Amino acid sequence: MALSPPLYEGKAKILYPTADPDVLLAHFKDDATAFNAQKRGTIREKGEINCTLSSHLFQKLGEAGIPTHFLAQVAPQQMHVRRVTIIPLEVVVRNRAAGSLCRQTGLPLGLPLEPPLVEFYLKDDALGDPLLTPDRLQLLNLASPSHIAQMQALALQVNQWLSDFFKDCGILLVDFKLEFGLNRDDQMVVADEISPDTCRLWLKDETDPQKRILDKDRFRQDLGQVEEAYRQVLTRVLGQAAAG
Ligand code: 5GP
Repeated sequence: MALSPPLYEGKAKILYPTADPDVLLAHFKDDATAFNAQKRGTIREKGEINCTLSSHLFQKLGEAGIPTHFLAQVAPQQMHVRRVTIIPLEVVVRNRAAGSLCRQTGLPLGLPLEPPLVEFYLKDDALGDPLLTPDRLQLLNLASPSHIAQMQALALQVNQWLSDFFKDCGILLVDFKLEFGLNRDDQMVVADEISPDTCRLWLKDETDPQKRILDKDRFRQDLGQVEEAYRQVLTRVLGQAAAG
């Protein structure tokens, strides 16, 4: 069936309308970008892997009582999602120090963070997705204080569930980014995707700081074997989902 013109095309996904105004089709691309799209490439089969992974994780989160926009995976690279109004904030949860936290604070890579850090960033590529202070978050007024509190609480619930799930897959959830949206009933739901593009994932039993990386840092840092790492995450998640 021919697709309607896209409603929106982002770096990793294209959103199309469907016959049902409340349902969108998300098409996951193989395109990969890093450093605010200054580095570009493709990761073979990434669209299919990330769509399948996100579908499984969203499904499981839903079963655990955490609302998401996910409805169904309808093709290897495509899922149906509930239409939501995306809140232009990126919510990052960190269990270990890595990435921008290390660069900006000097904390050593891998330092355990207890309790986990929850941070809000402005979702704006032109501004480089800046980290927001609580006062700036309030000043921008992109979400009400109650919606911000809901995002924070949901992000911590997702972290608890995902950390436990990945642990059973032999994977350490270092950090991840979530996006949230409001559905037509004004309910806050987890949106976007959950994949090695949006999470830092380390093999639990591997101490080599490069070999343990199973996420987009392999692409960002030109470490090679990117597809293999993404596929390994998928294999472990599907194995655990079938066992659990
Ligand atoms: P950092 O702030 O260290 O760069 O990123 C923290 C976590 O959030 C990492 O898992 C990273 O992949 C994810 N993250 C932060 N911003 C973005 C973004 O704009 N796009 C994607 N795909 N992931 C992001």
